[in-house]
Amino acid sequence: MKRLFNTAEQLVERGIDKRVRIAVTGLSKAGKTAFITSFMNQLLHVTDNDPLPFFKPVKEGRLLATKVSSYDELHIPEFKYKQSIGYLVNDQPEWPPSTTGISQAQLDVRYRIKNEWIRKVQKKSHLTIDIIDYPGEWLLDLPLLRLSYKEWSSQCLELIKQNISTSTTAWQEESAQLVYQQALSDENIAEISNGYKAFIKTSFTNDHTYNLLQPGRFILPGELEGAPVLDFFPVTDSNILHSDWDSLAQDSLVKTLEKRYNYYKKKIVKPFFKEYFEKVDRQILLVDCLEVLNGGYQNYSNMQFTLIELLKSFHYGQSNWLKRMFNPSIDKLLIAATKADHVPPEQHRPLEGFLQAMLQEARNDIQYQGIELETMVISSVKTTEAVMAEHKGQKLMCVKGIELESGEEVINYPGKLSEELITRNDWQEHQYDFINFAVPENLTNGILPHIRMDKVLQFLIGDKFR
Ligand code: GDP
Repeated sequence: MKRLFNTAEQLVERGIDKRVRIAVTGLSKAGKTAFITSFMNQLLHVTDNDPLPFFKPVKEGRLLATKVSSYDELHIPEFKYKQSIGYLVNDQPEWPPSTTGISQAQLDVRYRIKNEWIRKVQKKSHLTIDIIDYPGEWLLDLPLLRLSYKEWSSQCLELIKQNISTSTTAWQEESAQLVYQQALSDENIAEISNGYKAFIKTSFTNDHTYNLLQPGRFILPGELEGAPVLDFFPVTDSNILHSDWDSLAQDSLVKTLEKRYNYYKKKIVKPFFKEYFEKVDRQILLVDCLEVLNGGYQNYSNMQFTLIELLKSFHYGQSNWLKRMFNPSIDKLLIAATKADHVPPEQHRPLEGFLQAMLQEARNDIQYQGIELETMVISSVKTTEAVMAEHKGQKLMCVKGIELESGEEVINYPGKLSEELITRNDWQEHQYDFINFAVPENLTNGILPHIRMDKVLQFLIGDKFR
């Protein structure tokens, strides 16, 4: 009888999910660090947290305890939860330092089993949650796996021609002087490649003239900062692009650049996607819509292009090349507009509508692939209160908080959000004024106030506590 029971117990153990891997991504400053810190914080306080009403296992009183556990994948740096929460719940709180590379954390949650059949054999179980944080910019490298160096260079040249009509940049002037058929020293290659890095960064973030943030490691190099593998750039001389490279010497500039590009693809891009696609079960993509809206039409348009490119990483249909090259296992994708505390609650719905409209095309494709997709408007750390106040002679719902730069309490009306996409002509009429808020000072109980983190938890892991 005892043996039978043990066998049943083993079968039950095998039937219950023991591990779920969640990847968190988003472009720089989208709010990944704040999100992971809050995600872990909510779970670590399940027993003494205010109810997380939409996170069913907590509402049902079945989560017993959570602890941070040490993980076994020692090649990935640790996400520094203690440090991040230390910044936030402090006498003089600050936002923690942002993500610059990949990192990982692991939580172990003990819970009471719900399923009545399983409960006959076993009452409790545990779930290991791996949380992987990586820069969204790295996803933009996926298309490179299918492009030769020549094809990638032609694509860059095309985009430069389309977008940068006014003055040429220092990098373009410098690269126009190069003799691609001859060898060039490593130092010179590094210098020109730094010029290319500066060009993509400034034209994307400052001038909003160029939207190809590629290669992704050029924007956020992580542990590859300063490594020679990142010293290359596209050939934008159309004569060279249309010539035959076969007869060129192996040490010619163009061949050296081609070799480095191929090395980057093989040693950096492919292993990253392999590790990522084959292990991750659930993905959350954070989008800072407010930054998008604050920056004007061109900024919005660049951001939309970049996010749609980034979402192509999840278009793996049955016969798709991605599916053949890797073995992706993501079954749920959450796209969340972060920092919702910048707008009063009545504007959350229009904000979600805007997010959905901005990514409509990509969302349709992903849903078609059978991935369960959800959009939400959230705040990892709620820094404001909604208040009614007068704005330009009208009583309106505003948000009240401490402004980050001045340290003063302010009441802000951020503007009326539109649920629909805004055309270039309409844009002028829409005046947005989103300001940065500081972390509130009264978080002494160690629990981060949030908006809809319980819905996030339910979507990402709720089904794992059976
Ligand atoms: P990362 O680069 O994606 O890791 O971004 P961070 O998590 O470091 O967030 C960048 C900045 O956005 C922070 O320093 C905060 O100023 C702000 N931020 C992030 N999340 C929130 C939030 O939930 N509410 C508010 N008000 N600001 C946030």
